[in-house]
Amino acid sequence: MAKKKVLIYLLTFVVFVGFLTLYTVNVIRTTNTTDEQKILDTIEISEMQIQRNIEYIAKGLQLELSEQKINNEHLFSDFETAAESISEMDAYLLSSEGVLYQPGGVYDQRKVDRQVMRRSDEDGYGVFSISQTKSAVVDVGILIPVSQQPYYFVRVIKAEHFLTRVTENIHVSDKTWALFDEWGNQISTLAESDNKTARIREKAVEYANDPVNNQYQKAGFNQEYSVYFKIPSPEAWFLGNEIKYTNPELSFAGIPEQTMLIFGMLVLMFCVIIALDVINDRDKKKELFRVSNVDHLTKLTNSTGLEEALPEYMHKYPLLGYDFICMDIAAFSRINTMFGYSTGDMVLCTIANVIKERYLCGIRVNADCFAFFVKHSDDVIEMLETSFYDAVEKQMGHEYNQMLVFKFGLYPLTDNKVAWREVYNGAMLALKDAKKQRRKNQVTFDDNLKNDTDLKRNIEINMMHALSKEEFVVYVQPQLGIPKEEGIRGETLIRWQSEFMGFLPPDKFIPIFERNGFVVETDFFMLASALDFLQKQIKTGERPITLAVNQSKVTITFPNYYERLKALVEQYDVPLKYIELEVTESTLENDWEKIVPLIHSLKRLGFSIAMDDFGSGFSSLNTLRILPIDVLKIDRTFLYESDSSDRSKIIINNIIRMSKELNIKVVCEGVETKEQLEFLKEAKCDIIQGYYYSRPIPLEKFAKEYLPQNKSKFFQDRNPEES
Ligand code: C2E
Ligand code: CA
Ligand code: CA
Repeated sequence: MAKKKVLIYLLTFVVFVGFLTLYTVNVIRTTNTTDEQKILDTIEISEMQIQRNIEYIAKGLQLELSEQKINNEHLFSDFETAAESISEMDAYLLSSEGVLYQPGGVYDQRKVDRQVMRRSDEDGYGVFSISQTKSAVVDVGILIPVSQQPYYFVRVIKAEHFLTRVTENIHVSDKTWALFDEWGNQISTLAESDNKTARIREKAVEYANDPVNNQYQKAGFNQEYSVYFKIPSPEAWFLGNEIKYTNPELSFAGIPEQTMLIFGMLVLMFCVIIALDVINDRDKKKELFRVSNVDHLTKLTNSTGLEEALPEYMHKYPLLGYDFICMDIAAFSRINTMFGYSTGDMVLCTIANVIKERYLCGIRVNADCFAFFVKHSDDVIEMLETSFYDAVEKQMGHEYNQMLVFKFGLYPLTDNKVAWREVYNGAMLALKDAKKQRRKNQVTFDDNLKNDTDLKRNIEINMMHALSKEEFVVYVQPQLGIPKEEGIRGETLIRWQSEFMGFLPPDKFIPIFERNGFVVETDFFMLASALDFLQKQIKTGERPITLAVNQSKVTITFPNYYERLKALVEQYDVPLKYIELEVTESTLENDWEKIVPLIHSLKRLGFSIAMDDFGSGFSSLNTLRILPIDVLKIDRTFLYESDSSDRSKIIINNIIRMSKELNIKVVCEGVETKEQLEFLKEAKCDIIQGYYYSRPIPLEKFAKEYLPQNKSKFFQDRNPEES
């Protein structure tokens, strides 16, 4: 659950509890007052009744005693009558739920067992200590505050004035008294002393001056409640009035049941709402997971979902002996452009279905890249290819298969503890390598690949200082005109002499620089170096040569490229026709509308433009039609293939012918053998470049060996036709 939501819940709950507490307190207060009043009224009525009845009985008793002339100077000559009267009175009091008490004595065992009356001899204070009851039925009356319930009322009424008439007759003397049971046995005397603790005695003193009559107290929670009152004389009687009071609304901790019920229901409702919300949240999350983690076209897990799916899968299943495969369909966009997107989608779905049915944990990493687990075997790749080709043929016809070229990156699972990210990254790295390979369609991840990754990291770390530390070195590969009069020219090629990583060829770092944008800096460095070199040549009176400088697609499309370029060339006094900017075909693939006018501007500035790697892309002929190029560099793969294929030869022948008609010079790259040279000569290629003549060499060496004044020497020494 979102933090915000929890906070809102909490706040609502606090406010809710606050309101409820206020409400409960209010309810308790109003209930208390009404209950208190009710109890007081009850006590009052009950007392009045008791008094009336006692007076009535007492009168009768007195009458009887006087008639019988009982002499109270003697010890109860007529026990029987006295006892009878007492028990009669007692019976009445009990029946009316009142009890007659006398301080320091025990009158009724049944009642007094939980109310012990004590008396202090020294100071003459009577102390009532009350034991506890847990009953929800509340006894209200004199002496009965019971802890844990708030509604215990104590009222002690001195009954002396209406009992004297009774006690007169049964009184023994001024100093002593006795209490008799119904059979005339003395059950208690004044002599009884008590060992009440000092604390209680203190309390008794404290209460000493309280008016005894109408003393009324209310007990708090969990208190043992004691009532202390002054005994006017040892023979005084006190009316203990015990009224059973039942408050049906009272329940736990004094909170009325109704309130508890409402409270409980609200809490329940609150909990239900939270529970529903949590469930709803979880459902939403699940739905969101489904929408965001599952590819809508193929229903395989997508790139967002793989972060969860892959570790979960690897955790659940023992995949030792399996390969994790990342698979890409080379040039899949061709199917889209040729047959439309719906056909492309169908191919993807067909392949996805095979993955779903036969392999484990299918993932669509991106458009035409899939990942899954498959049991390892020596011919696993052939098996995979066959399964995909068969399915596509069955579903769509064999013509699509010709356009499907699969590239595979494998990560063999030989260790159960390897982290999913390593597996995934490893297979992806292998796939990337496989995509670079022209003759191989599968690469298995190994440590070399991993070292490559480490190297990449080091390259990024070290690149920033490499320029200022002058670690980048300009190499030049000579280009030779055919016939020789065409003269010598060269292509600048960068190298990195790194303090930490040693000597690095460009294919190790240029692709990384292209990804992080640093290639803009190195390209400008190379261009500045070429301009510098030419300026020096011109200054020393030599005839400048043409230098080709590579311009990455990233450089060309970088914001303010043109302005920066212009500002750079303005610092030199070099005719720009000597600089041949090499742009690769792939540069044009996307930002066609921006790049075409840019190339025109570069031409207007005076640069020569060369189309690099011609024939490696798919829009070659269009390029020729649209761009005002001066030079066309036939990709070296053509030359490789021309060794074996007559078709390639025909193509090269015709490219050269066509270029001538378009007034475009042709450079053939990658000439390695005499046969290739012969063929190119015959085809009337203008310029050749390749190991057959020279590998790329440092600029200074190139200047020394190939400068115009040395040209004749070079041809004498290195004429390939003689070598
Ligand atoms: P490229 O522009 O196609 O450069 C030609 C590459 O082919 C050079 O590799 C060169 O050494 C190689 N080569 C030349 N003759 C032969 C041959 O007979 N056989 C074979 N197998 N290869 C031959 P290099 O110098 O390693 O450069 C590789 C790529 O790096 C270049 O391909 C270019 O794309 C990039 N690069 C090099 N320097 C720069 C630069 O300053 N800026 C940019 N943006 N890219 C550069
Ligand atoms: Ca080039
Ligand atoms: Ca090239």
